Amino acid sequence: MDGTLARPEPWMANALCAQVDGDLWFPDKGGSTREAKAICRRCPVRAQCLALALEQGETGIWGGTSENERRRMKTSAEAA
Ligand code: SF4
Repeated sequence: MDGTLARPEPWMANALCAQVDGDLWFPDKGGSTREAKAICRRCPVRAQCLALALEQGETGIWGGTSENERRRMKTSAEAA
C-alpha cells in the first residue's frame, strides 16, 4: 500500500511498508512482487490491510496479495 488513502486508518501507523521504498508495492507489469510480499508476511496489520484492499479495490500489493490475487479471492468468495 502507499498510505495515500483519502481516509487513513489507525492501523496504518503499524504498517511495515511505511518504512521502506513505496515503489516495491507497485511493480511494473511483470515485475517481481516477492520482496514486497515477504515484508507483508511479517506485517502485524496484514489482515486489516487485506480486508481494506478487498473492500476498496486498491491497486498494487496489499496484505501480501497482488491485484490479480485479490480479484480471484473475490470471485471465489462470490461463487461460494
Ligand atoms: S500487509 Fe503489506 S501492504 Fe499491508 S500494511 Fe503491511 S506491509 Fe503494508
